[in-house]
Amino acid sequence: MTKDELTEGDDRRPGSGDRADGEVDILGIGFGPSNLSLAIAIEELNDRRRAGRRLTARFVDVRRRFGWHDGMLLPGATMQISFLKDLVSPRTPTSPFTFLNYLHEQGRYFDFINLKTFFPTRREFHGYLSWAASRIDLPVSYGTRATRIDWSGGRFEVTLESVVDGSEVTKVTKVAARHVVIGSGSRPVLPEGIAPGARVFHNHQLLNRLAELPSRPHGRFLVVGSGQSAAEVAAYLHDSYPAAEVHASFRRYGYTPSDDTPYANRIFDPEAVDEFYTAPPELKRELLDHHWQTNYSAVDADLIKDLYRREYDESTRGVRRLIVHRVTGIERLSEASDGVTVTIRDLGNRGSTTLDVDAAVFATGFRSADTRSMLGPSIDGSSSFEGDLPIVERDYRLRLRGVPERIFLNGGVLHSHGLTSSLLSNVAVRAADILRAITGEQPDHPATRQRLPAAIRTDPR
Ligand SMILES: Cc1cc2nc3c(=O)[nH]c(=O)nc-3n(C[C@H](O)[C@H](O)[C@H](O)COP(=O)(O)OP(=O)(O)OC[C@H]3O[C@@H](n4cnc5c(N)ncnc54)[C@H](O)[C@@H]3O)c2cc1C
Repeated sequence: MTKDELTEGDDRRPGSGDRADGEVDILGIGFGPSNLSLAIAIEELNDRRRAGRRLTARFVDVRRRFGWHDGMLLPGATMQISFLKDLVSPRTPTSPFTFLNYLHEQGRYFDFINLKTFFPTRREFHGYLSWAASRIDLPVSYGTRATRIDWSGGRFEVTLESVVDGSEVTKVTKVAARHVVIGSGSRPVLPEGIAPGARVFHNHQLLNRLAELPSRPHGRFLVVGSGQSAAEVAAYLHDSYPAAEVHASFRRYGYTPSDDTPYANRIFDPEAVDEFYTAPPELKRELLDHHWQTNYSAVDADLIKDLYRREYDESTRGVRRLIVHRVTGIERLSEASDGVTVTIRDLGNRGSTTLDVDAAVFATGFRSADTRSMLGPSIDGSSSFEGDLPIVERDYRLRLRGVPERIFLNGGVLHSHGLTSSLLSNVAVRAADILRAITGEQPDHPATRQRLPAAIRTDPR
């Protein structure tokens, strides 16, 4: 069996990351890009330690095998960050886990150069991430959900469920860890009152759900939302079902373009995390407001033009297949075995439209995973949250009372660490920050910006 074939219930090199008593130095919850980057940083640190004590670590992921938003691997969809912000380059450009090394190993190095782009397709980046995951020697248990963190006998104890098909629990175990790093990503959000079903689903499941659609008697789809994913889904359905109508509904007047201009893009640089973290709350809010459209509720300008051109072209031919319902909300929706009946209401009270569609796809975003629900009764989390938001130190450790602050959040900290927190742009440097906090050792040197000339340097206050 190759490493790539290791899936559900398998531990990579079982036990290789555990000490004799089963305790590990680091338990990583989730094995998406954030904790994958951490796993690489741990292995690279262990390599440098040579004869010294090696860190032990184990990762768990509820998925059956490695995957990165695979329900949205749409043909031609490209990355929204440069490949230079891969899992390792910003901290260790000489690492064997770079995207460039991946290209080299695939024999596509020169072919990729000739594309003249910083932005590979998401499919290719998924290939890169899967390749990197398959090269990790630390144990990774797939099909395993972490449900609770407790403090017991001077260490954390994490409850793990072995799951089949994402739901049926076949076994419950516990693992002891000195540090826990939660890299569990975000959760899809459906609007209030919308119940998921075979024909009503969030876009993160798009490809799987479309493949399972029982029938398509209406030849019509509805896509709700106005962000990048919504626009991509509308274009994908329009391309893939050449006889079907695609209706798009959103509250805005039109899709609005994402800001990927260079000055704004600096908000994703590693040092922006320092600046954001230390900013007063009012400034934090202002920065998020100003730069929200670098990533959220915004669409690549070329895709907006492409959709508009399609709609216009159809209007000239009198064959309408792509229909945008601007300034609208979903008033009623009911799902039956053969379709979904949905009423779209104009938010200015200028009437409503009722459609029978084969499927309603909600590209309505994500929210951070709920860290609070992971803390068992033995951990006093009363000082750990402000409202629903975790209180996290600059080095990503969760504030805790009565137990050592050794639970880290590898992502999901947009409110305190800024816009990079839910994206890939900072995963390499964040993993280094977390590992430094755990070991006190510098895992590697993050890339730094050229320093300003002395004459215009600002004095730190
Ligand atoms: C369609 C799409 C495209 C995107 N494109 C980009 C892009 O181009 N550039 C960019 O910067 N960002 C992009 N993003 C943002 C995205 O959040 C990041 O790319 C990235 O996935 C963040 O990695 P992560 O490891 O923090 O979270 P995730 O990728 O969500 O991984 C979290 C993992 O944790 C597992 N997990 C969750 N809970 C548990 C639990 N209790 N126990 C065990 N395992 C658990 C999940 O199964 C999952 O594998 C995109 C997002 C989407 C949805």
